[in-house]
Amino acid sequence: MKRLVILGGGESGVGTAILGKKKGYDVFISDFGKIKENYKEVLALNGLAWEEEKHTEDLILNADVVMKSPGIPDKSPIVKKLNEKGIPVISEIEFAQQFIEVETIGITGSNGKTTTTMLTHHLLKQGSVNFGLAGNIGKSFAWQAAENKHEGYVLELSSFQLDGIREYRPHIAVITNISPDHLDRYDYKYENYIAAKFRITMNQTENDYLIYDADDEIITKWLSEHEIKAKKIPFSLTKKVEGGIYAENDTIISNITNEPFTMPINELSLEGKHNVKNAMAATSVAQLMRIRKETIRESLSNFQGVEHRLEKVLKIQNVQYINDSKATNINSTYYALDSMATPTVWIVGGVDKGNDYDELMPLVREKVKAIVVLGVDNQKIVNAFGNVVDVMVETTSMTEAVKIAQKLAEKGDTVLLSPACASFDLFENYEERGKQFKNAVQNL
Ligand code: ADP
Repeated sequence: MKRLVILGGGESGVGTAILGKKKGYDVFISDFGKIKENYKEVLALNGLAWEEEKHTEDLILNADVVMKSPGIPDKSPIVKKLNEKGIPVISEIEFAQQFIEVETIGITGSNGKTTTTMLTHHLLKQGSVNFGLAGNIGKSFAWQAAENKHEGYVLELSSFQLDGIREYRPHIAVITNISPDHLDRYDYKYENYIAAKFRITMNQTENDYLIYDADDEIITKWLSEHEIKAKKIPFSLTKKVEGGIYAENDTIISNITNEPFTMPINELSLEGKHNVKNAMAATSVAQLMRIRKETIRESLSNFQGVEHRLEKVLKIQNVQYINDSKATNINSTYYALDSMATPTVWIVGGVDKGNDYDELMPLVREKVKAIVVLGVDNQKIVNAFGNVVDVMVETTSMTEAVKIAQKLAEKGDTVLLSPACASFDLFENYEERGKQFKNAVQNL
């Protein structure tokens, strides 16, 4: 019996354990932190062995294969030891893919992964294609693979999950865009992070597809320097691309298949240029999957959006409140500001991951009337924008930030929470930050 050791008892770990047991492995889960109660119940129900708050080497270094949760860095001592012993350390995606016989669609990128993945899944669902939704979203891929109920899967893939693949081959891969993120996990080398993203296409063949943003210079440069086997499907907001999908005269035009597809941009349910790109990526997948044009158009116009991503919360006294708590880097906040159509009171701040605020300067000058800074250490933001806007107020709680934003906003304005920073100084995570924002708005 082969021994499967799983590092990390979260969603992907527990899913992998269930799949591993079903496939006849001797399974052991080890988590250096605490395992959540609901997962412990699942482990008990399935008779799976586990430990928490420690890594017992005797029980780990005898593994035939190790599945590491994406949250655990390669630098952690236990992973180093496994590497030294030559024991394969793979991701959940890699482990699970061996046991499915259906195709997957893999979606990666620095921003827009969740939105594009959910939109793609929505398009397929509306077209009556029974694909599971997994990866960083909801129930883990491995768990779903154990249940084996789907004709295929749409997977949101982070660079960490891609680091842990060896043979995984998506039939359709999407790279939404690439901008610097998570560099602490890549030795502060941008090229390592870029290479991690492109692992999504490394096992693809001539019969597979890579959909990518042709306006993204990092992506096009990499592609000009590397050969790939997959058929390339570019999307662009700025130029007519052959065999791809682009925007012209406020219309999305696709010439991916023999049947041209068009759709007016103002009929998309999601606003903002970045969402036009996400829609183009999802449409490309849907066309390759032979979803009817009518269905694609309808689905793009009725998609509800994803919580915490430019989510419209409420309009109070003709002021629109928008929750973009998921904007944890400059690039995502750039697109949020870009899509603002009315004067904006901008709530920004948190844990700065090495931001260069210069990129936002023109948009802030054009759109932002006042800034509410929300964070423990606000100095960098104060220095960056102090001379750019007339009003800037520092706050340390969401309730206070929202109240002040309300005072600063006038009829017709927008209050936008788009922090450009991580949330860990004042909140547990970005979801908690977004929820507190929505509560504070509802209590105004
Ligand atoms: P991810 O899963 O990659 O973090 P999300 O879909 O959750 O991406 O979006 C994260 C943030 O980035 C949100 O603030 C969202 O409004 C913004 N965003 C979404 N799509 C894009 C895109 N294509 N380019 C830049 N920013 C985007």
